[in-house]
Amino acid sequence: MGPFLVLLAATLTPAPAIAGDIRAVEFGNGEVTLRFDDLVAGASTFLLAGPDRIALDIAGAEPGAARGGGRYRPRGASGAADADTTRVVLDLAQPAILSDGRFAADGRSLTFRLNPVSAGEFERAARRPRVELQPPVQFRAKPPEKRYSVTIPIGRPKPAVALPRIDGPANPRLPLVVIDAGHGGHDPGAISPHSGKREKDITLALARAIRDDLIASGRVRVALTRSDDRYLVLEERFGIARRMKADLFISVHADASENEQANGASIYTLSEVASDREAARLATRENKANIINGVDLGAHSSDVSSILLDLTQRETMNVSADFARLLQREASDGMKFRTSAHRFASFVVLKAPDTPSVLFETGFISNKGDAEFLASADGQKKVARGVRDAVQIHFARQIASQ
Ligand code: ZN
Repeated sequence: MGPFLVLLAATLTPAPAIAGDIRAVEFGNGEVTLRFDDLVAGASTFLLAGPDRIALDIAGAEPGAARGGGRYRPRGASGAADADTTRVVLDLAQPAILSDGRFAADGRSLTFRLNPVSAGEFERAARRPRVELQPPVQFRAKPPEKRYSVTIPIGRPKPAVALPRIDGPANPRLPLVVIDAGHGGHDPGAISPHSGKREKDITLALARAIRDDLIASGRVRVALTRSDDRYLVLEERFGIARRMKADLFISVHADASENEQANGASIYTLSEVASDREAARLATRENKANIINGVDLGAHSSDVSSILLDLTQRETMNVSADFARLLQREASDGMKFRTSAHRFASFVVLKAPDTPSVLFETGFISNKGDAEFLASADGQKKVARGVRDAVQIHFARQIASQ
């Protein structure tokens, strides 16, 4: 087996009607080969960095006899595979990538070249989306049902809201950043117990300040989901970003707490599992923006489409998390962050599967100092400067890694 150790992530659910067993995982001649005893539906592969691993998801397959040679992780421990997919994880002693993936003509085996690469090359390759492979059509098992995918109903408001204006250089090749001022219209968001200032006004002022600074940089184009005091359901907010094919979506908010001492900014990215109880509570509160008089304006729209939240979102979520860390780093000079500033929770507004998205809680409106800072022109400039710097570095990195 050389430098590789095979781990199998087994599924603990009953076998589907059609499934090939993975009979063997073999190494030799710089190749890795998976053998099946029956047809499988397809395969996909991607890299996981730190520790370096290669993951192979075999759709419509059971771990089978290969089970004997491997170690098992309980389902989900590796972040992962759905009920009809078996994940084979190659733990790498040295960085390597797969290439030339091909199924045999009868669909019963799958072979890759295993190429040693430098650590830097591996890291770059790990940022790429997964590679999908399919057996020859006549030797392909029926695609498995994705029983473990989470289907989120997405209301498609009718008529679709008009797309906002794009500001900045008239160069369509420049990245487009969509800034979303949280709340608006009959949804005021949180309200300061000291000054009565409303979150919806603060977020709009911040969004404008961020837009102005980004435009001044000359490096990106910018659009605001709202540039006045209007109500948008959460799906319309990220829907605008998706329809405009935005490269980055930043939803701007201000937090609130019963504890008036609580202060500092935090940045949230999407996860089905919240990083802590407070993050889960905040997501519940922010998601309530859709519910007016008990009617959920997002989910109950007559024309309902859906977005599958599954592993295809992994890449987007990684880019979002990278940007969240960068934003904290770049904005820390001018504003205060909480100690564990990057958190995760299930925010509806972050659920565009293909647009890297963060929710920026710029501070606590319930805290006197934070509220004054966020309502002041000086504070807004500092927030905007942090966002601008992070955005510039973010896109410079993206270009460098292409
Ligand atoms: Zn909010």
